[in-house]
Amino acid sequence: MKSNMKTSNPPAETSASAPAEIRPSNFLRDIIVEDLKTRKFGDAVIQTRFPPEPNGYLHIGHAKAICLDFGLADEFGGRTNLRFDDTNPEKEETEYVDSIMEDVKWLGFEWDGLYYASDYFDQLYEWAIKLIKAGKAYVDDLSADEIREYRGTLTEPGKNSPYRDRSVEENLDLFQRMRAGEFPDGSRVLRAKIDMSSPNMNMRDPVMYRILHAEHHRTGPKWCIYPMYDYAHGQSDSIERVTHSMCTLEFADHQPLYRWYIEQLGIFPSQQIEFDRLNLTYTLLSKRKLLQLVRDGHVRGWDDPRMPTLCGIRRRGYTPEAIRTFVTQAGVSRTNGITDFAMLEHFVREDLNRRAPRVMAVLRPLKLVIDNYPEGQSEECDAVNNPEDPAAGGRKVPFSRVLYIEQDDFREEPPKGYFRLSPGREVRLRYGYFVKCTSVEKNAKGEVVEVHCTYDPATRGGNAPDGRKVKATIHWVSAAHAIDAEVRLYDKLFTKPYPNQVEEGQEFTANLNPNSLEVVTQAKLEPSLASAAAGARYQFERLGYFCADPDSAPGKPVFNRTVALKDTWAKIEKKAG
Ligand code: ATP
Ligand code: MG
Repeated sequence: MKSNMKTSNPPAETSASAPAEIRPSNFLRDIIVEDLKTRKFGDAVIQTRFPPEPNGYLHIGHAKAICLDFGLADEFGGRTNLRFDDTNPEKEETEYVDSIMEDVKWLGFEWDGLYYASDYFDQLYEWAIKLIKAGKAYVDDLSADEIREYRGTLTEPGKNSPYRDRSVEENLDLFQRMRAGEFPDGSRVLRAKIDMSSPNMNMRDPVMYRILHAEHHRTGPKWCIYPMYDYAHGQSDSIERVTHSMCTLEFADHQPLYRWYIEQLGIFPSQQIEFDRLNLTYTLLSKRKLLQLVRDGHVRGWDDPRMPTLCGIRRRGYTPEAIRTFVTQAGVSRTNGITDFAMLEHFVREDLNRRAPRVMAVLRPLKLVIDNYPEGQSEECDAVNNPEDPAAGGRKVPFSRVLYIEQDDFREEPPKGYFRLSPGREVRLRYGYFVKCTSVEKNAKGEVVEVHCTYDPATRGGNAPDGRKVKATIHWVSAAHAIDAEVRLYDKLFTKPYPNQVEEGQEFTANLNPNSLEVVTQAKLEPSLASAAAGARYQFERLGYFCADPDSAPGKPVFNRTVALKDTWAKIEKKAG
């Protein structure tokens, strides 16, 4: 499969079913191979890091970065650090730190070192002093607005600040007093002295430190000046002897600055390499917007199963294996693109098909009464747990006179091509018997509320000794043995493939799908599901994959639909209609 594959369709069956270990080659791996060959970093092992900012929950885009950072280092016997980029004291919370660690582990990765950019505040401060002493940094008294004005534009060069040529002594004195808390927020900054006419705006004397009288979640009140991301990131990489610092394309313009700091300081030459962000149709992957969905109550929380957060898709029932395979197969490239949501679902289905035990559940029950089956009698049918996995064994499913079937599996007047139950028609009950519909009962509104059948005792197990065939097999649950359950059916969170595209004056929330959640409260499950543990995944035969939700209570399970099975009938109906 091509490494930069972007697709609007799930990839062809052959490549899609390749095991996760078969990794398509990509340019990041090529760079590492080359660097090892030329001994670019001498004897140093391949060292990567995953550097989340703890200001939100991880999403599936982060999963791509995690798989690259950890996966590539792993492949070459290297190491990966988890480093929290906590340079901004105002937005960061311990809740996010905890969730990020949990999510990385859940994805199946273990970090070597666990660090915080704030661990390096002392070192970064010393290096700032070093740059001041070398005449490479100065304290600027311009306001933020003035700095912006002086910076110029893409077509016009910037102008030097009137404070740019302060003496080293004055800069040292002012910077130390900034640190000591003598000045209010925003009154001064420390800037790198580079080039105000550089065609790269990031090189026009970027700010290194700002004054912020704010407590930090780790360093407490120790600091009232904080380093900017660009000043902290490369140096943190260097301290950890990161050889390959992989980040997304929006940082490409920052790379010259990344290198400049490292060169001026003469420290370990970590190398930044950019790759494309993961974008998915019908999905937003921006922490700010996801936070807005949570804060404004559009979803039930960060772990709402409709969210693209790792905790959301975990609750929905996606497996870490499926996500890793998806991310690998979606590939990595040097240009941004968008990947079809259907491709993600494809890999989720494929993985669950292999591992999820099959069970029977009826979401919209219709009573089916077998008139010639003795009242009060019941028996156990042998059911296969997973046809894909003989080791999964079998189980017994109770059968009796009154069953529930899916409303959809009965039509009083079957349309052309409909082969399921209808008056006079015979179908197979999965693992049970052939039944033939003899009559129906209706309510006052004329709706069918009960279907009456006769069964053929000779067809036990699902085959007729006389060789007669039926055209459909339907699932069922014995009414006397059924467990009541709530089932939450999810649809896409947004109605548009590009949720950010809105009419003027509208927000992305205008594209929210009002029907993204449907709660079915009267579902009937086979009794083996009574004790399903939260997180347990199943295939409800013919309906899709489902995962027990933490909201489940003893005897009252709640299930999330992870993903539907491919619905061929819907396609036929659509074509016909
Ligand atoms: P967001 O835009 O969602 O707020 P971010 O880039 O600010 O994300 P960080 O916590 O800074 O989030 O990201 C940690 C790492 O994950 C960075 O290296 C970043 O490049 C990477 N990353 C973030 N989003 C994606 C994505 N959609 N695809 C691939 N990598 C991503
Ligand atoms: Mg960020």
